[in-house]
Amino acid sequence: MSSTTDILSLSKDTLIARLAVLGEKSYRATQILDSIFKKYATSYNDITTLSKELREQLSSTVPFPILKETDRRTSKDGTIKFLFTLSDGEMIETVFIPTEKRATLCISSQAGCKFGCAFCASGLLGWKRNLTVGEILGQVLYAQHETKGAVSHIVFMGTGEPFDNYDNVLAAAKMLNAPEGFHIAARHITISTCGVVPGIERFAGEGMQIELSVSLHASNDTIRSQLMPVNKKYPLKVLISACRAYAQKTNRQVTLEYILIRDLTCTPMAAKELARLMKGWLSKVNLIPYNVVKELPYLTPSREDIAGFKMMLERSGVICTLRAPRGTDIAAACGQLRHSLRK
Ligand code: SAH
Repeated sequence: MSSTTDILSLSKDTLIARLAVLGEKSYRATQILDSIFKKYATSYNDITTLSKELREQLSSTVPFPILKETDRRTSKDGTIKFLFTLSDGEMIETVFIPTEKRATLCISSQAGCKFGCAFCASGLLGWKRNLTVGEILGQVLYAQHETKGAVSHIVFMGTGEPFDNYDNVLAAAKMLNAPEGFHIAARHITISTCGVVPGIERFAGEGMQIELSVSLHASNDTIRSQLMPVNKKYPLKVLISACRAYAQKTNRQVTLEYILIRDLTCTPMAAKELARLMKGWLSKVNLIPYNVVKELPYLTPSREDIAGFKMMLERSGVICTLRAPRGTDIAAACGQLRHSLRK
């Protein structure tokens, strides 16, 4: 597959070596990488400082990753959902979410997802494959090209489980952050996991300032195992102690994502249990009113129930935020990503 040697998947040293074979000096590598990461070139034709011959040679030896825009939907609120087709025909989604102060890009780490969370649309079509470093960075490059560099924040909250594609996600995150890469502040990059404990442990040792989010979504093992099969492998006790250890080791706050589902996770009992799980370590919770997925049976709680849940947590001293849904009219909200145009 050509995508394994695409330009965005190569290290600078490898690129220099590839250029040497073509009789080119190493400064060309800087020229090419600057055109990509600073000027958002999405093809060699955009890099006019290179000769036509060299552009052609590079296009066949180290091509740009293939992310063919197959569909684009723009929401009333400015959210844009891109659907891309990859070199092997797999499809992935990427969502651009602008607000007054920032623009966040929600990127996918895998084609499909194998974790099968009961409430999520991403797993409905099953698991396909890991994305390459180039396919992960390619989403950002494409969005920066289209929005003239508006993206300021990145969240690995599209389709897939980042810690199930650990090496490629980490390599991509490093290039998102690197001064010679996209140069996005580490604190503006968030990796979200459904609770893959070995990934959390490994990430704790990376010494990076990237934000960690954990999709908790339930306050006890009975409900969590029912909603998230991963909980059978890494139950709450194991997961929370990995999160505590992460917070202690890195001195960084962990964000727990918590979906509010009517009569299931948004109850007074759940608020009490959640507050207990969060006691005594550096964490905050982001409450996400459930976004309805039409094939699935779960419902959003009433406004009063959501407000009541939040108030109970705050009374227990828990730091909490409530996420406003974005792009609901184009099925771009959390958990609604799914390839709707499959052959
Ligand atoms: N696999 C990673 C990354 C995906 S992030 C993870 O689980 O964290 C996508 C986020 O949206 C997760 O927190 C996921 O649980 C949440 N989500 C999935 N379906 C949802 C829905 N219908 N409504 C609201 N949030 C949902």
